[in-house]
Amino acid sequence: MNSREIRRIFLEFYKDRGHEIVESSSLVPKDDPSLLFTNAGMVQFKRLYLGEEKRAYTRAATSQKCVRAGGKHNDLEQVGYTLRHHTFFEMLGNFSFGDYFKDEAISWAWELLTQVYHVLPDRLYVSVFKDDDEALRLWRDKIGLSPEKIVKLGEKDNFWAMGETGPCGPCSEIYFDQGPELSCGRADCAPGCDCERYLEIYNLVFTQFDRKPDGSFEPLPSPNIDTGMGLERLAAVIQGVSSNYDTDILRGLIAHVEELSGAAYGKGGREDVAFRVISDHARAAAFLIADGVMPSNEGRGYVLRRIIRRAARFGHVLGLAGSFLHLVCGKVIEFMGEDYPELAQAGSLINGLVGNEEKRFSDTLTYSMKVLEEEISLIKNKGEKWISGETAFKLYDTYGLSIDIVRDVALDSDLDVDTEGYESAMVKQRMKSQESWRGSGEEAVPEVYLKIVGRGVKSRFVGYETFSVDAEVTALVLDDSESDAAKAGSAVEVVLDHTPFYGRSGGQVGDSGTILFDSGIMEVDDTIKPSPELTVHKGRIVSGLLHVGDRVRATVDEERRAATARNHSATHLLHAALRELLGDHVKQAGSLVSSERLRFDFTHFAQVDSETIQELERRVNRYIIANLPVETTVMTKEEAMKTGAMAIFEERYGAQVRVVGVGEGVSKELCGGTHTHRTGDIGLFRVVAETSVAANVRRIEAMTGEAALAHDQRLEQTLRSAAILLKTTSDGVEERLARFIKEYKDKDREIQSLKSKLIAGKSDDILAGVREIGGVKVLVRRLDADSPKDLREAADRIKDHLRQGVIVVGAVNGGRAMLTCVVTKDLAKRFNAGRIIARLSEMVGGKGGGRPDMAQGGGTNPELLPSALEESYRLVEEILNG
Ligand SMILES: [Zn+2]
Ligand SMILES: [Zn+2]
Repeated sequence: MNSREIRRIFLEFYKDRGHEIVESSSLVPKDDPSLLFTNAGMVQFKRLYLGEEKRAYTRAATSQKCVRAGGKHNDLEQVGYTLRHHTFFEMLGNFSFGDYFKDEAISWAWELLTQVYHVLPDRLYVSVFKDDDEALRLWRDKIGLSPEKIVKLGEKDNFWAMGETGPCGPCSEIYFDQGPELSCGRADCAPGCDCERYLEIYNLVFTQFDRKPDGSFEPLPSPNIDTGMGLERLAAVIQGVSSNYDTDILRGLIAHVEELSGAAYGKGGREDVAFRVISDHARAAAFLIADGVMPSNEGRGYVLRRIIRRAARFGHVLGLAGSFLHLVCGKVIEFMGEDYPELAQAGSLINGLVGNEEKRFSDTLTYSMKVLEEEISLIKNKGEKWISGETAFKLYDTYGLSIDIVRDVALDSDLDVDTEGYESAMVKQRMKSQESWRGSGEEAVPEVYLKIVGRGVKSRFVGYETFSVDAEVTALVLDDSESDAAKAGSAVEVVLDHTPFYGRSGGQVGDSGTILFDSGIMEVDDTIKPSPELTVHKGRIVSGLLHVGDRVRATVDEERRAATARNHSATHLLHAALRELLGDHVKQAGSLVSSERLRFDFTHFAQVDSETIQELERRVNRYIIANLPVETTVMTKEEAMKTGAMAIFEERYGAQVRVVGVGEGVSKELCGGTHTHRTGDIGLFRVVAETSVAANVRRIEAMTGEAALAHDQRLEQTLRSAAILLKTTSDGVEERLARFIKEYKDKDREIQSLKSKLIAGKSDDILAGVREIGGVKVLVRRLDADSPKDLREAADRIKDHLRQGVIVVGAVNGGRAMLTCVVTKDLAKRFNAGRIIARLSEMVGGKGGGRPDMAQGGGTNPELLPSALEESYRLVEEILNG
């Protein structure tokens, strides 16, 4: 039975028992900003457990993508050294939200393992929480396990809590006995022991209490079931292998690495570690990128970067030079792309990003590894056993070596790394640059709205078809708390039973408009969606008194909505045109659609040049001229993915999705936004800016309709004004301006040359002032010069006339004395210009120096320049006399 079958059978088993098969949620948790990555099956159901959300089903089963790297659950540095740890893994789970409880959970888990997967019951053990007699009874009396196969464990092992307070409860775990030969040999070796003998495979959590702030436990009115079973572990048990890395998918990846490197897996030692690291990390990298994470220097992107670099470094152990990891990622897509379509969709992006990152890393790796090796030998010479935190941080900060790599290399030299010191150096630097990681999840839902949603209040959106409806006020919020009424002048948030107002979501801004009621009017400035089922109108009561329960007329500002729709539909056309022109690696990384303009962020590895921008504009405008229909269809997400519709990384979709299609296959996107009926409604499309947002992410800003026209007219007006100033026509501006710029540059050059001629032009009479001291010609002069450069040029010209001698020139400009000394080459050994200038500069209150044949200096006491110049003669004499 391969991993795919094991996964499919699990989901079907629970589907047959009334469970909704729910798709894995993104590795980037949407609702939990405190969490770096999704790390368990229950993450996407957290709000159901907390009672903040209700769904159509009360039983669910998933195969959840999980990453444990970075953050609290960090397995990154262990991966490769063990047979069980992973950065990426799949977690099978069945869930009950106030539906079935311990009886079914235990019975089904047992039935699935023993009768469906045919795991020998003799090999299975279970643990229960010490006080959970109910679970104990079920295992003993209903399943018929003998008491010695049931182990009671304490709070540390068998009690689960979401946090300090809130939902919590006992667990029961099912263990697989790998055989006495793997035992630690201790007398008390039993399930729960740290050794390899008893492998924990299925964890059942019975969430039945609510822990109160005072520490007391209150039974939940409807307890929940939350379970987890690592697919890789289960596959190892079913496939009869003792390592997760010997199961079909991971072994397949290792085989590919064997092919690429020519090395063989299974000989033990560092090479086996490398094989495991590369196969594990390739999966994590591919899946993270498919979920929208990109290599960067902070947060999730930094974890991804560490994963890719760690794998790249281990490639060297296997003699893999250059980039190879993107090829292994390709295999990941081949093996798993069918079950995770987002992986297949992001294929070229994964290939490009990983390849790029590998290349960037290998450029620096050779050098930084040398630095690290030098550090290590230095430490060993000193007889120390540690790489200090400071050093580790410097290696990271300056040479790009992540702590994992430093540790891996240190390990080879029997050195340890002061991780704590490293962390604190990191924190210090972060505080300095104030770049601490901020969660990118959605803003938390304000408490007042949680309460409203909790009561079952919903608002149906009817704004796709209509701009104005009669509705009923179902809730009013004043100053973050609910109220029965709101009077004129108050800033208020209003919930209606149904509404034509589009709440800010999917990058599109919220609608504005009016809400009319019997006694007055409310102006709506913005509309938000604090939770998927709730639309909130924000604004001000202009007149009258609005009550909960009032009948109102809600009307959207149609003109603004139409402008927004033009920009939204244009965004889809832009997205399609970008993919046509630049390639499939283009993925939406963010967007903002307002009535004024649109902003579209997308993955791409280089700047988009102006010719491509023009071609983009031509394509989008061609779609507009073709006046194609814009059609929306509602279907299941699976159906949508089958039609090739594009989904957005960051978006969370329900089971039913809305697909917005343009023409015959021009564009197809999952989108809840409002659109034009036909592309012709967009009118005109113009790009106004192309910039970089982050590494590998570009941004295009554009305008449509009248705004685009106004933009063009402004530009044209500027051009016309320029033409008038330049006394030419619009067409002649470029040529005229180019000529002016050339003339300006020529004139500047002429001025420069005139200036130096002017100074040096006087050199004839200057030469008259030459003194001979001991057979050496010495010329000292005060000149008019604006800069040290001018002064130096003048000195050089005098030198050309003088042929042999010592020249000291000075000038005063801007309250400063400037000095230059030039000595002809033949005399430079005897009269050091640098030393002369140093002395003279000191006299005018400053510093100076330079080469033996040319030196410059100056000071802040210009009134002392004459005496300094006079001193030059004396200095020459002094040098002559030794
Ligand atoms: Zn043991
Ligand atoms: Zn859209």
